[in-house]
Amino acid sequence: MNAKPTYEELEQKVALLSRKVNEQQAVENQYRNLVDSTSDSLYLVDSDCRYLFINQNHARRLKMPQNDVAGLSYKDIHSPEQNAKFELKIKSVYQTGQSAFDEHQSARDGRYFLRTFSPVRDSSSPEPIIAVAVVSKDITPRREAEEALRKSEEKYRQLIEYSSEAIFIIANGKIGFANSRTEKMLGYPLADLQAMPFIDLVIAEDREMIAERQQAVLQGTELSSNNHFRMVRKDESTIWVAANSVMMRWENASATLNFMRDITRQKKAEVRLLQAQKMESIGTLAGGIAHDFNNLLMGIQGHTSLALLNLRPGDPNCEHIRTIEKLVISGAGLTKQLLGFARGGKHEVKSVNLNDLIRQTSQTIGRTKKEIKIHHHLEDPLWPAEIDPEQIEQVLVNLFINASQAMPAGGDLHLETKNQVVDENHFKDYSGKGGRFVRVSVTDNGVGMDEKTRERIFEPFFTTKEMGRGTGLGLATVYGIIKNHNGFINVYSEKEHGSTFSIYLPASEKHAAKDRHSAGESAPEPSSGGETILVVDDEAMILDVAGEMLKMLNYRVITVPNGADAIDLYRREQKRVDLVVLDMVMPDMNGGDVFDAIREINPDVKVLLSSGYSLNGQAGKIMERGCSGFIQKPFTISDLAGKLRVVLEKPDPAAQCGSSKP
Ligand code: ADP
Ligand code: MG
Repeated sequence: MNAKPTYEELEQKVALLSRKVNEQQAVENQYRNLVDSTSDSLYLVDSDCRYLFINQNHARRLKMPQNDVAGLSYKDIHSPEQNAKFELKIKSVYQTGQSAFDEHQSARDGRYFLRTFSPVRDSSSPEPIIAVAVVSKDITPRREAEEALRKSEEKYRQLIEYSSEAIFIIANGKIGFANSRTEKMLGYPLADLQAMPFIDLVIAEDREMIAERQQAVLQGTELSSNNHFRMVRKDESTIWVAANSVMMRWENASATLNFMRDITRQKKAEVRLLQAQKMESIGTLAGGIAHDFNNLLMGIQGHTSLALLNLRPGDPNCEHIRTIEKLVISGAGLTKQLLGFARGGKHEVKSVNLNDLIRQTSQTIGRTKKEIKIHHHLEDPLWPAEIDPEQIEQVLVNLFINASQAMPAGGDLHLETKNQVVDENHFKDYSGKGGRFVRVSVTDNGVGMDEKTRERIFEPFFTTKEMGRGTGLGLATVYGIIKNHNGFINVYSEKEHGSTFSIYLPASEKHAAKDRHSAGESAPEPSSGGETILVVDDEAMILDVAGEMLKMLNYRVITVPNGADAIDLYRREQKRVDLVVLDMVMPDMNGGDVFDAIREINPDVKVLLSSGYSLNGQAGKIMERGCSGFIQKPFTISDLAGKLRVVLEKPDPAAQCGSSKP
């Protein structure tokens, strides 16, 4: 039973209630103070994005009194775009009951805000969510710091990415980081590089050295010099690199930071230069030896010729002496090989169609090696080339022999000619000039070569063939001859996949001579009209034997051992001397100077130049100055007889320049 409350009781209740209300007021004030003192914006919206409450800070930011905002919607004071974004977030909070976030840039002042959208619940309400509380925090300073960091990182990134060097970090033996140049240089994508030990990318021979150097760097040793070594790319090609490394910290451990440059081109050029220098000195040496040896052969040749003339036909010694002659000829062949790559062995140059030379030379191979099929791909018309046909024939023969030896069981030999304009930069490594060239390519499908072999093939005496089969002089000769012709050679070969040797010879401005020079033409009958011949040679042996030959041929002979005596004598006796046989290489005064001096005395003098070879193309130059003919040592008595008749019978000495055979 409820008794009516007394007045006191009521009074006490009222006091209690008003205390409670005051307490509540105090709590509410506390909350309001808290909400208004925060530097963040804070506001409540309902599901229609109507503002239920905003704190002072947000009102300030909106530049509106707190009370005016109540009743407005978000869309009333924001752009449609911003509104759409906002509504989406509110909807999501109502639907999921989960907080949401976004970053928002104010249209008013461009500042950045991090907004947190949180559901507001009230257990007394039938709705599960009665509002969304939005806290919006100004993150502009943080964003600016981030932006500055990003920009500076971008600068460093570009510095590394645009570097022409490969830059990478090796940690625990593996690449931890690499710029894109590293990927390009090695041909692997970064993910592959990161998966394999760095040392596996180095060629086997250089691995130990690289491992040691990496170790030294990790231990803090400063290695000053660049390190050169070879690496294998994904496509299995080898590149030369120059690298240096420094120690660094990477993910809390010691690592190395490495800078690496591709120096393959430079290395190749260095190797070629070294090769060229080596060839040059060997060429000089071989040329010197060959010159002396050739004079010796000349002596033997001369005496055997003379001995033969003294013997009755049918004498049993005839056979022996003929054999000696044959041996001299093969000896001369050898010196010719040596002279070929000695400098300046260009004897007689004319405009030649290389197609003709190739057809003729390849016929011989075709006849002797039936198991090899020869295919011609000859450009027509082919530019003529300014060459010594005999030497280029020697080049072709050497290339054909090598090709056929590379195909012991038979195969295909492709011979190609092509007119080609070479631009200067393309073959820069060969230090040649650009211009019009005739290219001759000799391709076989034989055993091919590995890189190690290919690097050495032009070295004199380098051979991979068994004793007796190879001398290692073939390609050295080819090299020397082509160089003397101001041409160059390009070799392409892979082991088991055949080889292509391409020689480039400068195209001639003149028209090609119709007939190529032919070796072994029959000599005219030895005969003489009793003319007087002046022989100039520094070798007593040559004077001796040439003198005897000439006497045999019914010429009158005067011999002198040097240039000064020759000029002296010619000045006194020029009426008597019909022809001068002049050695080109002599000490003190060489053949060229002597030639010029006696030409001063008599411009119509007939001179037959004689030499084993010409230093620096001297012979060619003397021929151009109007010399009557050229004879190559060692010569036989009938060679000499033939040459003399040709020169003596032609009235105008200049008319025969460049047309006589060495
Ligand atoms: P040789 O033939 O006497 O060995 P060369 O100077 O002609 O000397 O050649 C040198 C080396 O070059 C050969 O021993 C061979 O290893 C290599 N060579 C040359 N031509 C070819 C070719 N067409 N195919 C494969 N290897 C070749
Ligand atoms: Mg050879």
